[in-house]
Amino acid sequence: MSETIFDKIISREIPADIIYDDDLVLAFNDINAQAPIHFLVIPKKPIATINDISDDDRMVVGHMMLVAAKLAKKMGFAEEGYRTVMNCNEFGGQSVYHIHLHVLAGKLMGWPPY
Ligand code: 5GP
Repeated sequence: MSETIFDKIISREIPADIIYDDDLVLAFNDINAQAPIHFLVIPKKPIATINDISDDDRMVVGHMMLVAAKLAKKMGFAEEGYRTVMNCNEFGGQSVYHIHLHVLAGKLMGWPPY
């Protein structure tokens, strides 16, 4: 798999506003925020798309969601509510081919999302 900008953020080759870091995942603020709060939770393992998640990745993918929820509580917007999004491939609007969970908060979200 070719390296993406997120691999460079994981290795600290390029800077990011990192808000959480552990053995499995990293979370950092999105450079082009679409809400007052918008951060990404990514696995340190490079997985290109949701379609590439394997049974071996259950732990890390579940952990991404758990970290999102823990950060929502810690940052104080869990009760108010928020949105998580994971885009897949062209029609899903994916632009970086290293899976990432968007966490958006701080405003009332609309639906449908297009
Ligand atoms: P996608 O469109 O793939 O679902 O989301 C990719 C997200 O990564 C976008 O929201 C975009 O703003 C964000 N992004 C792309 N490059 C960078 C970067 O270098 N730093 C940060 N912090 N976010 C980035």
